[in-house]
Amino acid sequence: MRIRRKGQSRRALGGRGERMSSPKTRSGGSTGGGGLLGGRSGAGGRSGGSGGLPIGNLGKGGGILGIIVAIVITFMATTGGGGTGTTSGNDVVGQRSEIVTVTKTDRASLSPAQRADLDGFVAATVDDLAIYWTEEFPDVYGQRFTPLADIFPYDPTGDQRISCGQSLDPNILNSNAIYCPAEDYITWDSNFLIPNFYANFGKSAVGVVLAHEYGHAVQTRGGLDAAPIIRDLQADCFAGSWIRRSIDGSGAVTLRERDLQGALSGFLLLRDPPGAPTDGFSAHGSAFDRVSAFQSGYDDGADRCRDFATVGVEIVDLNLERGDVNAGNLAYEDARDAVLDDLAAFWADALADVGLAGLALAPFTDGQANGCDEAGVANELFHYCAQSASLVWNEDLASRLNTAIGDFSTAFYLARTYGEAILVENDIADLEGTIADCLAGVWAGDVAYTSTRLLELTGGDLDEAIASMLNDPEADNNASAFVRVASFKTGFFDGGSGTVASIEICRA
Ligand SMILES: [Zn+2]
Repeated sequence: MRIRRKGQSRRALGGRGERMSSPKTRSGGSTGGGGLLGGRSGAGGRSGGSGGLPIGNLGKGGGILGIIVAIVITFMATTGGGGTGTTSGNDVVGQRSEIVTVTKTDRASLSPAQRADLDGFVAATVDDLAIYWTEEFPDVYGQRFTPLADIFPYDPTGDQRISCGQSLDPNILNSNAIYCPAEDYITWDSNFLIPNFYANFGKSAVGVVLAHEYGHAVQTRGGLDAAPIIRDLQADCFAGSWIRRSIDGSGAVTLRERDLQGALSGFLLLRDPPGAPTDGFSAHGSAFDRVSAFQSGYDDGADRCRDFATVGVEIVDLNLERGDVNAGNLAYEDARDAVLDDLAAFWADALADVGLAGLALAPFTDGQANGCDEAGVANELFHYCAQSASLVWNEDLASRLNTAIGDFSTAFYLARTYGEAILVENDIADLEGTIADCLAGVWAGDVAYTSTRLLELTGGDLDEAIASMLNDPEADNNASAFVRVASFKTGFFDGGSGTVASIEICRA
């Protein structure tokens, strides 16, 4: 997020409608069908229209370029350091989010019982993925599934050397998992990556890593010839289809629906290796796209994922400046003040309609939410206090979130709380909180698409909004991450300009 300088021009973004890559359908719920990924008539989604994406040459040649879709996570120092200082892994989706929840964990720091549990889970998952795709592949592609040549753990800190068409630098496997088409194997960093995901996000996140890489093996067998971003989104989709089966309990691996949040949090830390071609925008896709692709497989199964190659897939291209996520990240106080000013202006008419000239601001730092007597309010991070028509928030926690996730975390929570205010003052119940998420999206969409605003978005902002939803400390009673992301997205693309109509769109 950035505060626009006077007279600064920006690249034209066009209207919201022009930016839509899918029909304006709204997901009706976590099992609401394919609304999020409406079909496109042009092949290859947005890439088909732009003409700018080269066709990948996966499977040919081998060598380092033959490794498709390695995934890397960047772990930043968990102590101090401002949180946003690491730039080596820029444009990592959710890069900053992990310091909210992630501790550095390598294999040695797991207890023997945890190691045994993890090893058992990995072995069961590898077996289950083979069974799943042996069954599923003939239905989806009309061919027999050829088992993978190999699938094995790899410790990049050890002496073992591997190749992929040619010898591989062991560093490629640092915090990474890969599928190598030239030699048809999957391997993963068993010393750091997998123990980390296990410790921080749970087994389901480990399962997603393996299922995603398996997805690359599947698409190679299916003959997918598409841009890197499509390949990666399809692998996400295949991972979603496998996870669904595990949650439904029809596979050998059983996961629980509530594990999904952890799976998605970990999954959004996965990305392509540094230096991978980004083809004009990040090859791994934004968090919007990746959650949508994952959900597509989750809701509609592997058939839908196969069709990414022909029917296309929604890719949100905001034409933001990408590749420099850490640029334009405002310090907490700057972000807070600018967002509050912008929100007050944006919702002024809607608040005036209910007789409010604006909202009072009541930040607190001492655990006492002064100015609001509502029960339990001091335990909340952000709260709309109807009694005093004030926005109440915990400055310490808000500042930490800004550091941990990024400035758009501050923006998201403030915007969401403004949304709550609009709803409360209009006597609209929002039991799951998703209407407020949508209203936050309405504001964010207007910031993105209105060139005269005080604020403008920078690359990574929307990923930070998604990371905020996944890391929401008050999310216990909220809807699933899928539904929340879908609601935010509806507001973002279809929400209009902050009038009564916007509220109705978000209630629909
Ligand atoms: Zn991948």
